[in-house]
Amino acid sequence: MDNHFDLIAIGGGSGGLAIAEKAAAYGKRTAIVEPSHLGGTCVNVGCVPKKVMWYASEIAQSVRDAPELGIQAEIAAIDWPTLVKGREGMIDGIRNYWNGYVDKLGITLLKGSARFVDNKTIEVNGAQYSAEHIAIATGGRPIVPPVPGHELGITSDGFFKLEQAPKRVCVIGGGYIGVELAGILNSLGSEVTIVALEPKVLETFDPLISETVKHNLEHEGITLNLPFAVASLEQRDDGIAVINKDGTALTGFDTALWAVGRRANTDALNLEATDIERQPNGIVPTDTFQNTNVAGVYALGDITGRAPLTPVAIAAGRRLADRLFNNQPERHLDYENIPTVVFAHPPVGSVGLTEAQARETGKKVTIYQTTFTPMKYALNTREPRTAMKLVCSGENERVVGIHMVGDGVDEMLQGFAVALKMGATKEDFDNTVAIHPVSAEELVTLKEPYTGD
Ligand SMILES: Cc1cc2nc3c(=O)[nH]c(=O)nc-3n(C[C@H](O)[C@H](O)[C@H](O)COP(=O)(O)OP(=O)(O)OC[C@H]3O[C@@H](n4cnc5c(N)ncnc54)[C@H](O)[C@@H]3O)c2cc1C
Repeated sequence: MDNHFDLIAIGGGSGGLAIAEKAAAYGKRTAIVEPSHLGGTCVNVGCVPKKVMWYASEIAQSVRDAPELGIQAEIAAIDWPTLVKGREGMIDGIRNYWNGYVDKLGITLLKGSARFVDNKTIEVNGAQYSAEHIAIATGGRPIVPPVPGHELGITSDGFFKLEQAPKRVCVIGGGYIGVELAGILNSLGSEVTIVALEPKVLETFDPLISETVKHNLEHEGITLNLPFAVASLEQRDDGIAVINKDGTALTGFDTALWAVGRRANTDALNLEATDIERQPNGIVPTDTFQNTNVAGVYALGDITGRAPLTPVAIAAGRRLADRLFNNQPERHLDYENIPTVVFAHPPVGSVGLTEAQARETGKKVTIYQTTFTPMKYALNTREPRTAMKLVCSGENERVVGIHMVGDGVDEMLQGFAVALKMGATKEDFDNTVAIHPVSAEELVTLKEPYTGD
């Protein structure tokens, strides 16, 4: 086999598949290196299995709500193995699709782990391969802090290996993965506690989101113990103990779940043999064109340390292929105003600047916000809170941030993100006729600026 390619993508996840697929479609000789299943984190241990679990947990919650609307129903049992079997069957289907598709496109799949030999050459299973262009898209893995007893905890990867529902879970971490998995477990019948270093959940989001999500987590029966610096885990007679650095302990868990962030997968790449720059946290920095500091070597997706989301990795990969192989020299991804959703109960949607970020620009900032219980819960004793906020900038009140928590905001956000990216103003929102009765109408009927009173 000729071991020289136009493009080698290292990693067969969201970013690697995206660039390889396009390069092959442009007629380029393309290889993907992947030691595990195609699809990467998103398909195998991320977005896709997580969303299946979220759907199941939403349905469980609806069944609990049903009797108050006159629909006599109750959860007889939550059959976790059946749920997992269905989920994994679906994922197998996606893997099979990718295997067939890669084959159909004539992409060479090198099954193994890649390590660099020099700037232009990699080694896989002892054989060397070179390329005009090498895209590193090796993603990340969950961080497990090296505290005593850390091995007693699982990570999000371990969550997807659970064969039975855990009974009492301590989720360590209040970021989006911690919040999502805590909500899913709670809704599927586990007793859940969240501990985290920060005093708030979803701390990087606008405060309206973190406060509303905190309210909703507690409303759903999840215990928040914040801030809490985990110093160790211990196996005791009554289960796992999670010990704070002040010596206090939370005890009796059958599962502790680390959700304290992810580290870029660059340790095994032997970048030391190259001139490719890498930060101490493993991140490979790039410019806006995905170029690393070495000509002909690019980085995509989570290892670049930018918005770690599947559509971001895909969009960056596709645009890079357009630039390299389809004569579009200026094509690159605009990393501003990337919409993101947290699949909490109810979900979170956010795009653009938080209020604090908007104020840092020095321009006039006007806030419009509302908090309410949506009509969906009018007949229910359970009343999860919905909140919406528009962050507007300048005299013409350009909408530069939209932050929402509530049922349906996961679907609602995409269209509003288009409007924000196009430069819509508050007046444009006001000129749009509302849809009634839906929660989304609040976003186009917000009247008075919010002054914090
Ligand atoms: C629990 C969880 C839930 C998530 N939910 C969402 C969500 O709802 N929406 C969303 O947009 N994003 C979500 N994400 C994030 C999303 O999965 C990532 O942003 C996305 O997968 C990043 O794509 P990537 O191509 O950078 O890396 P990955 O998809 O991680 O792919 C990297 C690939 O590189 C391979 N690899 C590693 N080292 C080597 C090597 N040395 N040689 C060859 N191959 C190698 C790996 O095996 C892997 O297949 C979630 C992540 C997690 C963990």
